[in-house]
Amino acid sequence: MKSKNTTKSSTKSFHHKTLLLVTLSLISVLLVSFTFYQKFEDKIPVLMYHSVQETKVSEITISKKCFVKQLKYLKANGFKTLTLDELYDHLNSGKKIPKKSVVLTFDDGYKDNYTKVYPLLKQYGFKATVFVQTDKTDKDDYFLTSSQIKELSENGVEIGSHTVTHKDLSTLSNEDQEKELSDSKIILEKIIGKPVNYIAYPYGSCNDESKKIAKNLGYKGAIGILDEYTNEDTDIFEISRRAVIEDMDNFLGKVEKNNYYMGKYKFRKLRRIISSKF
Ligand SMILES: [Zn+2]
Repeated sequence: MKSKNTTKSSTKSFHHKTLLLVTLSLISVLLVSFTFYQKFEDKIPVLMYHSVQETKVSEITISKKCFVKQLKYLKANGFKTLTLDELYDHLNSGKKIPKKSVVLTFDDGYKDNYTKVYPLLKQYGFKATVFVQTDKTDKDDYFLTSSQIKELSENGVEIGSHTVTHKDLSTLSNEDQEKELSDSKIILEKIIGKPVNYIAYPYGSCNDESKKIAKNLGYKGAIGILDEYTNEDTDIFEISRRAVIEDMDNFLGKVEKNNYYMGKYKFRKLRRIISSKF
């Protein structure tokens, strides 16, 4: 009788212990997930475009049709566009980045940024940053003129440097790097009559010296292309960007942060939403 009671009580205590262990494990899992989710929520995609044309003609162009679809998606889903200066303020002050924020950037300074992108930005009320390679300005018909750059700058488009000649900075001497970063800044500031605060490294390529030079020349930040999200841990002199291609699923995977991990179900669901809406 006595031994039966002892067995009963030890079984009960075993059950209690198991229950406690399971509860504690569940709480830990929930806490870890919540912290991870919070951290993930604070990240922002800085998107990289180049040229927007009627049809996709190369890997760095996307069609106007696809671009409009992306803008419509951002608008319909409550996304807010930030300039790099606004992003900088958030990163610098530790002020929370608004949920569903995105930065739109355009590299090289193609003329279609004025003829195709600019009217659409106005139509959707979106902000953007255009990085200009200055040796093409007023010299190559395929690229922006100085008066177009000035007009963009006066109408809410942030202008940044993309160096003078678009060389891979990591292969240049310090003197040559300094010349690329300094001359382009001076040329653009003369055109727009205000400070040029950001530089996008050509090919996203830089070294420690590029970062030091950019900082010494008075740039507030610099942009690479590491294809990651940006948050307060990001190196402000190598802000990462995510390249946008002619592919809506790829685009969704970059702006809808949950999709990064939630996999195909959400992608399919989102695809259905998009195709029914647009
Ligand atoms: Zn470029």
